[in-house]
Amino acid sequence: MSLKQQYINGKWVGAISGNTRDIINPFNREIIATVAEGDESDAKAAIAAARAAFDSGEWSSASATERGTIVRKIAELIERDKEELARLETLDTGKTVVESRGDMDDIAGVFRYYAEIADKNGGELIDSPVPNSISKVVREPVGVCGQITPWNYPLLQASWKLAPALAAGNTLIMKPSEITPLTTIKVFELMEEAGVPAGVANLVLGTGQTVGAELSRNVDVDLISFTGGLVTGKKIMQAASGNVKKLALELGGKNPNIIFADAEFETAVDQALNGVFFHAGQICSAGTRLIIEESIHDELVNALIDRVKKFKLGSGFDEDTQMGPLISAEHLAKVEKYVETGIEEGATLAVGGSRPEEPELQNGFFYLPTIFTNCTTDMRIVQDEAFGPVITVEKFRTEEEAVELANDSIYGLAGGVWTNDLVKAERCAAKMRMGTVWINDFNVYFPHAPWGGFKQSGIGRELGRLGIDEYTETKHVFQNFKPRPTNWF
Ligand code: NAD
Repeated sequence: MSLKQQYINGKWVGAISGNTRDIINPFNREIIATVAEGDESDAKAAIAAARAAFDSGEWSSASATERGTIVRKIAELIERDKEELARLETLDTGKTVVESRGDMDDIAGVFRYYAEIADKNGGELIDSPVPNSISKVVREPVGVCGQITPWNYPLLQASWKLAPALAAGNTLIMKPSEITPLTTIKVFELMEEAGVPAGVANLVLGTGQTVGAELSRNVDVDLISFTGGLVTGKKIMQAASGNVKKLALELGGKNPNIIFADAEFETAVDQALNGVFFHAGQICSAGTRLIIEESIHDELVNALIDRVKKFKLGSGFDEDTQMGPLISAEHLAKVEKYVETGIEEGATLAVGGSRPEEPELQNGFFYLPTIFTNCTTDMRIVQDEAFGPVITVEKFRTEEEAVELANDSIYGLAGGVWTNDLVKAERCAAKMRMGTVWINDFNVYFPHAPWGGFKQSGIGRELGRLGIDEYTETKHVFQNFKPRPTNWF
């Protein structure tokens, strides 16, 4: 097994310290790759390369059409290598290969979208109050961008950052999660093949405490874009204050899914399950807080339990597997602790609540799909992210109560409403304090719709036009064609 390396200034290099890290398959704990383990020194080398590349103007001053052509080429290469990338993502994360293939289609779509709009982000002329003058507003790249991604959607999260940053003319240093770097490494190979110039896109591998912290505090980094947990986000915000970096934070969520009695029952049940149990619940927008109208509560909960008991857990490579393992032993321990808390708090454990017993699942980090009923908003399990296959169920009687419960959270990432009364649905959506509200659907993403959170779910937006705006500075250029002395002084 060859050592996977970092990509700094157009060269594949090991860590300066010589350190390495083994990458583990969460399905069976086998070592699937060994990668370089960089630290602050590697981060500094990459930042210097990105700074020099930005200041040289080769990329930032290239025409947007030229940059768009290279970003489009990256999309084509991802499509060419889709199966290899999907299998690598499944090996690294444990998610089903069907989900990984879907991710790869989405990822190619993100690169294509930003390739298309790269040259459509021109400036505008604005009215000038001064005679014989011209006033224009232009968008320029921010500069050197630090980009830090989590382990749950390793390449999808990376694509939301890489594509707009490159299209807008920035240079960057990416640090993937230290436990899931494999598809990001592969995409850097594809970016090299597509013709991204040396120094423009750099990849440093290693932990958050070393590489991530250096990117966050280094004064040569102009912007930091982070996706991950709330606690880490707060640390990054503090570190970034040293040179008042621009910040884009995509943090956690505890997402409500409101089901009214007049919803289409079977679809609501089915989509409530999809909303939580894809990738074993390790989704920032998982609809883990079910808020159900009292009159259908018992029937709906029973339907969920019946379905959950039949879930097929297993290897992500078996086409009939519905749910894979959690990402790591540490994360499994966190989910177990969360479930213990729910029991201590007095919620009713309706199904699940333990590891599966099948002998073939014992080497993996598996946890049974779990449902708690009789939950109330004062419980920690209703307020904290489980980031695992766990649903909490609350009951409501009135529309006002449903919205009030949904908004009772420090987070505001996403939420859902199920009802056949579309006026009621719009009323709820207007009152829900979240960056995305889905009506009669859940977890729908596409490249041209912005994504991000209200409240402590983050700052800024990824995807859509706003996703490229994050990577630009706005400049006003005013020119007087007939300057005259004023003789004031
Ligand atoms: P995490 O915060 O532990 O780690 C995320 C990344 O930050 C990793 O690359 C890690 O190495 C790095 N990091 C850790 N400490 C750091 C530090 N001090 N300075 C700089 N970087 C540091 O999160 P995770 O466990 O990898 O991911 C799960 C979290 O991500 C969940 O809370 C989830 O909701 C969130 N998430 C949010 C979105 C979104 O779009 N809002 C998407 C995916 C995941």
